[in-house]
Amino acid sequence: MKIAVVSCPLCGSEKCEIYKEMKDAEILSCHDCGMIFVGSVDSENASQYLDNQSSPVDYYRLSEAYDRKTFTERIAMLEKYCPPGTVLDVGCNCGTFLKVALARGWEAVGVEPNALAAEAAKSSGAMVLNTFFDSNTALYPDHFDAAYLGDVIEHVVDPRSETPRV
Ligand SMILES: [Zn+2]
Repeated sequence: MKIAVVSCPLCGSEKCEIYKEMKDAEILSCHDCGMIFVGSVDSENASQYLDNQSSPVDYYRLSEAYDRKTFTERIAMLEKYCPPGTVLDVGCNCGTFLKVALARGWEAVGVEPNALAAEAAKSSGAMVLNTFFDSNTALYPDHFDAAYLGDVIEHVVDPRSETPRV
């Protein structure tokens, strides 16, 4: 089943045209603001995140040393604006961000739909929920000081409606 987005998720315009057809998705461009976005996706697409096809845990285990460096830089940047407190990592995969955050004094919580990745992430010592982040994934309402979504937004059909929940 296709899930269709009929208007631009940025400006709301319905003047959109097909930018590119892909195997499982249709990419649209907005005439009014130029936004390029996913216009429709196959609802079966979600399974790729559950069964370790998209963002496989082995890939992120191999890139852990590099990712640690990147995440350390990003968290250091975050700490210029927000001292260590509570941080939510949406799409935490095998937990590298969580490990870095914990080592820097943050209380870290991860959300990850891929069961293999979520299990690996639990070894970080952080709380990890094996699920998609959605409105039912309310852990500590108004509790997180920061949220991290690395390589996540581009997978979300309607980022504008999803991000306020974060
Ligand atoms: Zn637009």
